[in-house]
Order: sequence, then structure tokens, then C-alpha cells
Amino acid sequence: MNEYIIALHMHTRYSDGSGSHGDLANAALKTGVDVLLVTDHNVLVQGFDRYFEKDGRRVLMLVGEEIHDQARQPQKNHLLAFGITRELATYARDPQTLINQVRDHGGLAFIAHPVDPELPLFGETDISWVDWSVDGYTGIELWNGFSELKYVLKSKLQAVFYAFFPQFYAHGPLPEAVARWDNLMASGKRVVAVGGADAHALRMSMGPLHRTIFPYEYHFSAVTTHIQTNAILSGEVDVDRKLILSTLSQGHAFVAYDLPAPARGFNFTAQTESTTAMMGDELPFAQGIKLGIHLPRACDCRLLLDGVVVKRWQRGVDHTYDVTQPGVYRVECWLNYLGKKRAWIFSNPIYLR
Ligand SMILES: [Zn+2]
Ligand SMILES: [Zn+2]
Repeated sequence: MNEYIIALHMHTRYSDGSGSHGDLANAALKTGVDVLLVTDHNVLVQGFDRYFEKDGRRVLMLVGEEIHDQARQPQKNHLLAFGITRELATYARDPQTLINQVRDHGGLAFIAHPVDPELPLFGETDISWVDWSVDGYTGIELWNGFSELKYVLKSKLQAVFYAFFPQFYAHGPLPEAVARWDNLMASGKRVVAVGGADAHALRMSMGPLHRTIFPYEYHFSAVTTHIQTNAILSGEVDVDRKLILSTLSQGHAFVAYDLPAPARGFNFTAQTESTTAMMGDELPFAQGIKLGIHLPRACDCRLLLDGVVVKRWQRGVDHTYDVTQPGVYRVECWLNYLGKKRAWIFSNPIYLR
């Protein structure tokens, strides 16, 4: 099984980011990221889908877009579209039409920052997703670095602190976003969770202080999405784009915060007599199914059934669980880091229905 790290959801100068596509690639080449999914606001920037290489490392850049209805007041409903080949921002007025268009054009639609609180301190409004009657999207951005910052920031002084020490602010996906995800899945939907950077490399000036807060490189070492596939990235852009998108759409992935410890190597499976299911897979429920968890290191590991913890392990790196009930099973891993317990890994679920 091969594991690739995807950094997704980021902005360049084509919208409200401060860097170029080249800056993104250079930052990614300094980290462990394998794939970048770039999403400027309401513009599909063409011509950057390619491999960037340096010192024997390579990063695949794929450009999609983040679309919302710019005429809507108040602003809501941001959608990440990956793998589309034409501009779709013209369909932004109706979220369902937009999702359908993304799908019809071979793309994947992810609801961006589903819960995104306001931050009056910096004039930032609540841009949560509100139109939950929609259907047909691939998944949601369970953990968005920027939403979380809006959630935890209480003062301008604190903002300055986090600008210099960004590693202190990330704690985990917002509980409201996690509850929303669990509820969607409990209602019978398949919803793939991804972790996004929402990287802007914003320039901040406060008095004599000028600083790029949360530079791209920081984000690429922080919240990412790890995918698992039997295939190997070939170096051929069109082939690899297909592989990345199909793996993501199947939910063979987990959300990871790699700063406390590398999450590479995590695994969650369901074993029957005849088959092994991976994250994102669905199996008919039967007695005798055994869930298996492998951790890169010991942590506070929780197995959840339909959003409720059914088992918790504090020691060891290999855990098993004999399933007795149908439902949606997923794993959360928490680690102590910089004096606080922080989310480390959120798996995609295995559906036993
Ligand atoms: Zn957004
Ligand atoms: Zn964004």
C-alpha cells in the first residue's frame, strides 16, 4: 500500500493569497507533501498542472477552484472543486446546480469550511456552509486551518502570538463540523472527510510588525490529507490526476496533523473471512467482522460508531475490535503536543450497513 500526502485548499495572487504557484511548489518541496490541490476563489487558473522537482523530490500540482456566489449576502457556501477542466464559477448561484456541474465535468466537490465562525476582531464574517439540502458532493473539509483560527482567536495580541508561533493554535476539527459529518453519515450518506490548509500566506502589518502569517510551508507541515492506494504515482500528470481523484472520491484517506508527529503509516481496516476493507469502503454488516487499527505511535486512540466512542486505547500501536453492531465506524487519534491534547489523525469511516 502506498501513502501520499495531499495539501489541499490554497490561494495564490490569482485571488487573495500572497504567493505564486511557484512559491507554493517551492514551499511544498521543502516538506513531505506529494500533491498540491490549489483552489483560488472563483477562477480556474490553467497551465499549472504539472510536476515540480528539486533535489530528487517532486510535487504534483493540480489546480481546481473554490467557488461561491459573490452576489449572495451574507456570504456563505464555499465549494472546493477538484479535477474540473473548465471554469464553473458561473454556476455559483445555486449550490446544487454547482455541485452537479462539478460532477458532470468529472470533478469532485467538497464543502469547504462547513462551520466557519465570524471573527469581528478582524472584520471576518461567518462563511459557513448553510445549504445542507444539497446532495451529490464527494465530501466535506472536516478540518480547515483558517476556520479553526477564527474560532480560537480572542484578541489581536493572540493573533500576533500565533503569527510567530503558528504551531500553538491547531487543536482539532471544530466539534460542530465533526457532529455535522457524523449526522450526514448516520442519515445514510457517504461523506469523505479531508483536511485543508486554506493557505493564503497573508501579509499582516501591526504597527512596526510586518510578517507573513501562516506561510505556505507551515500549512504543508500541518493539516493535510493522506491517501492510500495500491498504485504508484507514475510521473505522468494525466494518469496521476486520475489516480489522486479516484482515491480521494473513494475516501481511501485520513486527515492528519503532522506537526506533533508524522502520521504516515496509520491504517484502519475491516477484515472479514474473504476480504479486507479500507477507509472509505462499505461492507454489508455481518457477525465476525474484525476492525484493525495500526498507529505510527501510541496515542489516545478512539474508535467511534455513529459518532459515539465505543472503545479507547491509550497504549500500544496495534488494536483490534470485534464488531457486533452495524453502523459507521471511524477512528480519532489524539496526542499531547505543546501542553495540550490535540487531534492528530481523523480517519475516514468504514461503513458497515
Ligand atoms: Zn472559503
Ligand atoms: Zn479558501
